[in-house]
Amino acid sequence: MENNVRDTHLRKQLLDRRKMLQAAISKSETTDSFVNLLHQVDAALEKMAKGAYGLCETCHEPIENERLVADPLIRNCIEDLTPEERRTLEHDLDLAHQIQSALLPKQNLKAGEWTTAYHYEAAGPVSGDYCDLIIPQDKDESLIFLLGDVTGKGVAASILMAHLHAIFRSLVRLDLRLDQLMARANRLFCEGTMMTHFATLVCGRAHTSGEVEICNAGHCFPFLVNEGTVTRIPSTGLPLGVFNSEQFSTAKLKLAPKDSLFLFSDGLSEARNKSNVQYGEERISTLIGNRNGISPQAIIGACLEDLKDFLFGAPKIDDLTMMVVQRAG
Ligand SMILES: [Zn+2]
Repeated sequence: MENNVRDTHLRKQLLDRRKMLQAAISKSETTDSFVNLLHQVDAALEKMAKGAYGLCETCHEPIENERLVADPLIRNCIEDLTPEERRTLEHDLDLAHQIQSALLPKQNLKAGEWTTAYHYEAAGPVSGDYCDLIIPQDKDESLIFLLGDVTGKGVAASILMAHLHAIFRSLVRLDLRLDQLMARANRLFCEGTMMTHFATLVCGRAHTSGEVEICNAGHCFPFLVNEGTVTRIPSTGLPLGVFNSEQFSTAKLKLAPKDSLFLFSDGLSEARNKSNVQYGEERISTLIGNRNGISPQAIIGACLEDLKDFLFGAPKIDDLTMMVVQRAG
């Protein structure tokens, strides 16, 4: 955004805010906080008049555009936040984290003869991964499972994650075929998202007979674990949000009792230790193959432990999600 375009827009907002504050001050008895805000608005307008608006008061470098647009009164770049500004930002992120946690499905959810477990961990306060388990109808014993990854990380990605959550939660009520569900979700996601943003995602429907349909929109291949043998389920299409009219195909498979599906985001497969070695799909495959017959929670637990050993203190830099969907024995 050109700064003069931005400033014209922000100046109007500041003038509107000034008007509201003056009205509030004339009507209210406790005016201290309003008067304080009014001073801040006036100071910002004064800086604009002098052409010094948008520069950090501490280091005099330009303040990040998106932060100014979100709050025209901020006075410091992100590196030079005042303790109060820092507290406000932390509080916001904390709240966002809580809201995102409330969007997650129930742990250890069971549907018919399917048992599940998942691990969901953000690299920062909020995650751009999408993890969901939905039982479409009460009478039905099928289960919809979803694991996706929005481009980028942090707050922007988490907003899109919440958008995906709303899209799928609404659409599953329509009882569509899986490929239709994906096509509609893709269209809605395209319409509400900037062209530079997309999401890879695996969506599956597990039926009570042991049959599973899987649709993969550009995401890491899920693994099928059958008596210690691990195979990749390689069907794939384009990620969501790329082409409005994208069609999706599904893969069908049948799980025997005790078989599991293992889904994950690249926060697992592409995790790197301090020697810059990638965790890799081979290691995942070997690990889950050796843990045949244990519960979904135990599989997740074993993976987390192995990842911790591998990282050996190296920081996790990407959002991490894994999920197990297992047919009862
Ligand atoms: Zn600064």
